Amino acid sequence: QNRIQYLKDSVAAVKDFPQEGILFRDITTLLEDPKALKDTIDLLYDVYKDEKIDYIAAADARGFIFGCALAYKIGCGLVLVRKKGKLPRETISQDYDLEYGKNTLEICKGSLKKGDNVLLLDDLLATGGTAGAMIKLVEKSGANIVSFAFIIELFDLGGAKRIKDTYGIDSFSLISFP
Ligand code: IMP
Repeated sequence: QNRIQYLKDSVAAVKDFPQEGILFRDITTLLEDPKALKDTIDLLYDVYKDEKIDYIAAADARGFIFGCALAYKIGCGLVLVRKKGKLPRETISQDYDLEYGKNTLEICKGSLKKGDNVLLLDDLLATGGTAGAMIKLVEKSGANIVSFAFIIELFDLGGAKRIKDTYGIDSFSLISFP
């Protein structure tokens, strides 16, 4: 629990970013702290080491940072879930709604196949909209979703419950803020 509190304290809270009224949780300060960075990966590893994970599918862009370190430690592959137009090969894609407008996420066609055990990962869970789009995208590939890992969960927004109720997928967050 001390280790979790240390991680919590390493995340900066930035008022009114990217717009007024938002308290932005900033993981760049966690990344700058060697102890916090190492513990983040080690603690996630402890949770997932026995799950026989074939791939981590990580979200553009902060998810890539943690996803890559965790994939290295687990000894599995890393699949990049990117914003539209960034991946050079043929893709499969999933649209989702933002507060204002729409967004599209993509993975390369053939990166994941039926029966692969996949851990999804992003830095932060808020409403669960991004996570839901990632789940739908990975499900299109036929792969099996083991769990969804986050570094941070904004608990009061109910994202974890939404993911469970809508998709039947369990999530895990290392640290939680109201
Ligand atoms: P959701 O789709 O509402 O769950 O929002 C989660 C997505 O928005 C993730 O990809 C996060 O990286 C990003 N996000 C939302 N709020 C924050 C924040 O306070 N700090 C960092 N990223 C955030």
